[in-house]
This record gives sequence, C-alpha cells and structure tokens, in this order.
Amino acid sequence: MIIDAHAYCFPPLGEANGFADSAAHLKYLQREMADHHQPVFCLDDGSLGDNSMLSEPNDLTLRGLHEVNFRSGGYGKFIWTSDGKTYAKQYLPPYLVDLSHSAAMMVAQMDHVGVDRALLHVNPIMGLINDFTAQCVRDFPDRLLGLASVKEWEIENDPEAAIAEVENAYQLGLCGLQFGNSPRFRHGVTSSWNSKACRSFWDGVTALGKPVFFTIHAKPKPSLENYLVQLDIWKSWLETYPDTPAVLTHGFPWRLFLRDKHLELPDAIFRPFLESNARLQLLFQISLGNVFDYPYLELHNTISQLVDTMGSDRLMWGTDMPNVERFCNYRQTLDSFRTHCKDVISEEDIDNIIGKTAQRLLSL
Ligand SMILES: [Zn+2]
Repeated sequence: MIIDAHAYCFPPLGEANGFADSAAHLKYLQREMADHHQPVFCLDDGSLGDNSMLSEPNDLTLRGLHEVNFRSGGYGKFIWTSDGKTYAKQYLPPYLVDLSHSAAMMVAQMDHVGVDRALLHVNPIMGLINDFTAQCVRDFPDRLLGLASVKEWEIENDPEAAIAEVENAYQLGLCGLQFGNSPRFRHGVTSSWNSKACRSFWDGVTALGKPVFFTIHAKPKPSLENYLVQLDIWKSWLETYPDTPAVLTHGFPWRLFLRDKHLELPDAIFRPFLESNARLQLLFQISLGNVFDYPYLELHNTISQLVDTMGSDRLMWGTDMPNVERFCNYRQTLDSFRTHCKDVISEEDIDNIIGKTAQRLLSL
C-alpha cells in the first residue's frame, strides 16, 4: 500500500474558509507569503519585488502586515497592490484556477500516480476547515484520511472549547490532530505550548486516543537555536505523553541545514527521537524543490543517515500536495524514493517509507 502521509484539500483560498470573513482568513495567507521564499514579481512590468511590501520586517505577527489589498489572483497566485502596481507570488501550482483543491482532484492525482491513500493536513492558511476535511474523507472513505485542527493561539484561554472542537472533528471522521506552533507566534503567543496552562488541553486530547501530528517551525525567526528551543518543548511533550503516537510533520527544516550541495544534520535535532517512538515525515521537494532537481541525488546521503539513525519504520513519505507541484510533480516526489533510492536503502526501507510506516500508525 502506497500512502502519501501529507497532502491537502481546501476550498478557494481567497474566501472565508471557516473564519468570520475572507479578510480575516487572507491575513494568514498574507503572513505566510510575507515569510515565504517564493519570489515576488510585478504583473505589470515583470520587475521583481520583495517580501517587505507585505509586512513590517520587525513584526512577524498578523499585526505587522501592510494594507496592500492582498487577494487571490487565481491560477495558484496571490496578488496585491503596491505603489499602483500589481505584484504576485506563485505559491500554488498554476492549475489551481480558483485556488481550491478538491477531494476529487486529489483522488484523481493519486490514481494517476498510483497512490492508495492520502492523509489530509490542515492549518489556518487553508482555513478552519475541519468540517470540509471531514466531508472530503466521507466522500472518499477508502482513499482519504484527514486531520483536525484547533485555534492553537486560544488553547490556554479556553481549553474546554478546544478539546470539544477536536472531539467533534473525530466524531465527524477525522483521525488525528495537527498542531502547529506558527499560528501561536502569528498571534503573538510566545509561551511554551506544553506549559501548565496547556495541560488540561493536552490531557483531554490525548485521552481521545488518536495520534498527534506536530508542525514545528523555528520561531520567531528561522535559526538552529530557535528550532532547538521549539524541539525541546516537543521533547518535553513526548515525555509527558509517551503512549500517544506522535509525528513530526514535513521532516526537519531542511533549508536551515543546507551546506553547498548537500544537507548537514546536527545531532541535536534527533534528541526528541532518541527516547521516544515518534515518527518523522519526509517531505523534501516542498522545501528544497528550487534548490535541487529531480531525481534529488543530493539527498541520498541524508536519506540513508535518517534510516540508519531512526529506522525506516519511523519514517514516512509525504508530499504537501498540491503545493509541491510548484516545484516538482507528484509522480517525481514518489519516484525519488520508489525508483531512485534502490541503491541507497533496502527495498524493505523503501516500502516502509512510502506506505507501511503510515499504514501501521493509522491501523489501515
Ligand atoms: Zn504541509
């Protein structure tokens, strides 16, 4: 069974998608674009712009955004107006005409490439869309699984409401929680997400017995030091809840570890994995697809290092579909393991990474 452990479906991203209105939702998208490495270009004359058009460089929260009439430009683009000109960022692949990615499209992509199941992820960029994600799963129960999300920045204020949101999402058919630290920082909440104030939330969520997927970014700015602070919080969480299956999504922040034409992973990032059975997702192309080219031979040393250090039964392939197709097509993300890792790791390791680890985790 081949399982894409990390994909997305979402309604049109220029709309409210579970927020009070489209403006409230678009703030999260503007924040994401302001922090993202994809280039900024002018639709009027082709000149280049930069991220400082979108936000104050010294305020990385939602409050730091500039008023630029940020909006959907269709065809995978977000656009805005600055000094009378229209600027754009191609965040999604151009075939997302209205910036939506339906369950039917996801399944068509899976059929085309030979993927049996996909696990849908979610975060405020896509919207507060537990209901939508659950409907995707109900529409394709043999193909799609989905994760729930909560407003991470409100957990301490109202843990009961957050637990109720997760419980409701599980009743609708979602199979785990995706928790991200970025939304907290974007709301200016910098305290630990495994503090006493969060205890009742985590106790309630883990009591529901489903896995938790952690999306952990180096905050407030991307640096190894900041990443290790956040990883240490995760390590303490893993020690508090050793019986709850946990997954680190996206893999490590690979771009932080680029050295010339390869990656150098510091030992310290493996610490949370040494005394737990936490799993790691392997998404390379969404992060490095504009650095290396298919078939990504530069990653082979890293892949064997990860297999040697953690064991392939804790590693799972994911893609970030459809976002990854701005760099690399779906088939290539799979074939970079299925075909091109044959001389790098064993067949059993490949089978684990492209399906069996996720299959066991999700009891499929
Ligand atoms: Zn993702």
